[in-house]
Amino acid sequence: MKLRFAPSPTGNLHVGNARTLLLNWLYAKKKEAQFVLRFDDTDLERSKDEYAEQIKKDMVWLGLTYDSVVKQSDRLNLYQEAAEKLKKSGRLYPCYETKNELDFKRKRQLSQGRPPIYDRTALRLSADEIAAFEADGRRPHWRFQLEDVTISWQDAAHGELSFEAKHFSDPILIRENGAPVYTLSGVVDDLDLGITHIIRGDDHLSNTAIQIHLMEALGGDGKDFVFAHLPLLTGADGEGLSKRLGSLGLKDLKEENYEPMALVNYLGNLGNSEESDIALNLEAFIDSFDLSKFGKSSPKFSQEDLQRANGKFLQVVPFEQIKERLDALGFTKTTKDFWNTIQGNLTLLTDVKEYEDICFSTINPKIKEQDFIEQAKEILPKAPWDEETWGQWTSALKTQTGRKGKALFMPLRQALTAEDHGPEMKKLLPFIGYEKTLKRLNGQSE
Ligand code: GLU
Repeated sequence: MKLRFAPSPTGNLHVGNARTLLLNWLYAKKKEAQFVLRFDDTDLERSKDEYAEQIKKDMVWLGLTYDSVVKQSDRLNLYQEAAEKLKKSGRLYPCYETKNELDFKRKRQLSQGRPPIYDRTALRLSADEIAAFEADGRRPHWRFQLEDVTISWQDAAHGELSFEAKHFSDPILIRENGAPVYTLSGVVDDLDLGITHIIRGDDHLSNTAIQIHLMEALGGDGKDFVFAHLPLLTGADGEGLSKRLGSLGLKDLKEENYEPMALVNYLGNLGNSEESDIALNLEAFIDSFDLSKFGKSSPKFSQEDLQRANGKFLQVVPFEQIKERLDALGFTKTTKDFWNTIQGNLTLLTDVKEYEDICFSTINPKIKEQDFIEQAKEILPKAPWDEETWGQWTSALKTQTGRKGKALFMPLRQALTAEDHGPEMKKLLPFIGYEKTLKRLNGQSE
C-alpha cells in the first residue's frame, strides 16, 4: 500500500491542507503503508522552492515523516510521454482559443441558460485554419477528449458515486507554454508511483471522475485505487474557510506557539463521530485512528476550539515531554512541581510567563480592601511554607473576620497574583514565598 500527500507549492500550508496531510499520514501509518510527499509543481510560475521547503518544515514541526519525495518538475518527460500517447490515440487535441475568447463563449452560454461546457470548436478546425493560427504566433493548449460515458467509483467516504462525462468540458491537459496541468501529471504519477489510496478533499470529486477516465485512456484502471473524499472544513457558521485560510497557516500557528500535538489532536478528530482521549504523541494517535469514523458532513473549524484543544493538551502533557519547549521559550524557572501546579491554567505555553512572574518575578499587586489585607498581613504564618499554609492562614482569617468564600479569598488572590483567576492558591503560595507575599500585602511591586 502506498499513499501520498500532494501539495502544490504555491503558498503555505493552512489547516485544511494539514488535515488532509494528517489523515493520509495516519492512515498510512496505521496500515504500515509507504508515504510519499509529492510536490505538484508543474505550474512553474506559481510554484516556489521556498514554499516546498516550508511545507517540509511544517511536516517536521508536526512530526510527520515521509518515505520519499517526488517533484513533478523533475518528471516532465513522463507527462510528455503520456501526452504523446494520448495524441497518438486521438484523445488529445490542440485548441487555439485565447482566454478572452473562452471567457466570451462561457458568458454567452450562461446568458442563454446553457451549461458552460467547451463546445469542441477546435475539433473542427481545418489544416489551413491551424496553419493560420500558427503563423499568427498562437501556440495551442491541448484538451483531452472525454467519451460519452458514466464514470463511477465506490468512494470510501461517500459510497457509490457516479458522474456523466458529458456534463464536463474536455479538460485542458497541456497549457500553451507546454506545461502539463495537474489533471495529467497527477494521474501519471499516481499510476507510475504505484499509489493505492487517494485521500483528499471533496473539492476534488469532479477531478476524480475525469482522472479515472484519463487513467483508463493511459492504460490504467481507476479500480486499482481506493478514493476517499473528505468534506472540507467550514467556519463556525458553515461558511467556506477559503478567505480566512490565509490567516490559518501552519507557519503562523507555530509562531503563535501552538503545540503541534494539540493541532494533531484537534485536526485529527474534526469530523470524527467519536470523541477520543487526548493523544500525547503520534504513536498513540495512530493506534486510535479509524478513517471509517469520519462523517460526510463538513466539520467546523474554529480558532477558539483550537485554542481550547491546545489548553486541553497542556493540561495533560507531562513535564518531561514539555521541558524542551519550556527551555526554548526561556521558561527555565519552571520545575516539574511548578508545571504540575500551573498546567491546568494554560491556553498557550507562553501563558507560563504570567505564572513565572507571579512566583519568581515581580507584579503590581491589586489591593482592593486595605483593612482586610492589613489583618491578613498581621497573621501571616511564618516560613517555612507548604501546601497547608494557605488553609491555616485563611481559616485563622475567617475566624477573625467572619468572612468566607469569595469575600475571603478574592482580595488575597488579587493582592498576591494581581489576577482574579489562576491555579489553586494553596499550591501557588509556597512558590510565591513569605517575603514576596509580605511585600505584596504591603502594596509593593514585587
Ligand atoms: N496538488 C493537488 C492539490 O493540492 C493535489 C490533489 C490530490 O491529488 O491529492 O489540490
